[in-house]
Amino acid sequence: MYNFRNITLSHITKIIEDFGEKKFRATQINEWIWKKNISDFNQLSNIPENLIKFLQSNYFLDNLKIDFHISSKDRTTKCLFKTIDNLFLEGVLIPSDDRITACISSQIGCALNCDFCATGKLGFSRNLSIGEIYDEVFIINSLSISLFNKQLSNVVIMGMGEPLLNYENILAAINIITSNIGMNMSPQRITLSTAGIAPKIIQLADDNIKFNLSISLHSADNIIRSKIMPINNKYYLQDLSDAISYFYKKTNIRITYEYLLLNNINNSIDDAKKLAKFTKISPCKINLINYNSTEKSNYSKSEEEKTEKFKDFLESKNLIVTVRKSKGSDIAAACGQLIAQKNNLLI
Ligand code: SAH
Repeated sequence: MYNFRNITLSHITKIIEDFGEKKFRATQINEWIWKKNISDFNQLSNIPENLIKFLQSNYFLDNLKIDFHISSKDRTTKCLFKTIDNLFLEGVLIPSDDRITACISSQIGCALNCDFCATGKLGFSRNLSIGEIYDEVFIINSLSISLFNKQLSNVVIMGMGEPLLNYENILAAINIITSNIGMNMSPQRITLSTAGIAPKIIQLADDNIKFNLSISLHSADNIIRSKIMPINNKYYLQDLSDAISYFYKKTNIRITYEYLLLNNINNSIDDAKKLAKFTKISPCKINLINYNSTEKSNYSKSEEEKTEKFKDFLESKNLIVTVRKSKGSDIAAACGQLIAQKNNLLI
């Protein structure tokens, strides 16, 4: 049995044509699978019986189920999803004044083991399928409609996992989310965040992507960055810088840097100087992120005064800087925290 929702749109068309049906059947089926998000081939009501039987005997559908959702005082709503093989992953619905954002996961767990991140502590289980990634957006959008009477305006791939280590599925899912067979969302409203897998950033440029790219930099000093983000031992800042430069030349997309401020680790003026120098590669924006403290963590949040000075310094270098307020801290909305809590409950 094959997972029907882990097949790209063009391949689905080929399967249907090979079966002896016309191309329009593939479009019909794709609309049922994606736009209507069916979870059973029996729901294909306008499709010939023999084609349904063929699909049922060769393929399965891997729809996510929502295990529970919990809303914070600031209306940030965290969702715990369950896969058909009984694994859990997280997604977050984040309403703000001018937008409603879904923050989605790309993998179950994560192999990168960033020192400050709760997901890293869980280890890596597996990649999410195209269908599972799509479902996070579809289900969070339905939740947004039922809670706020509004569709999602943005999607950020900043939940659990490293999206560029699940490259094919992430790009195929974005393709369906932005297609009229799926959710018809503009790619400009989607942001993929990476810890900096340099060769994959080059591949994104070669694939001529239309969505936004965010880099979790967190330090522009190799020694500090390698300490807090082990991936930096594989792809040094120079590799990252070369990849970003190539990416900008090919796509003209302005990158956003995420910079998590950890007190006395990376929040001095010297750190800000290194950041200002590094980000000269191409036009960019910088998001300074407040640390969402996790259990048993060695890190603490940057003191407000230091954050202000850090920001002022960057602005004095004409950089565009935003300080991101932490949302949903009362519901453990930081990456991997809800799963960690659920695991504690299960033990
Ligand atoms: N692997 C990708 C996407 C997932 S992490 C990446 O690294 O970009 C999404 C963002 O959340 C990253 O910038 C990550 O560094 C940050 N993050 C992880 N744990 C955090 C915490 N406890 N508080 C604040 N941000 C955190």
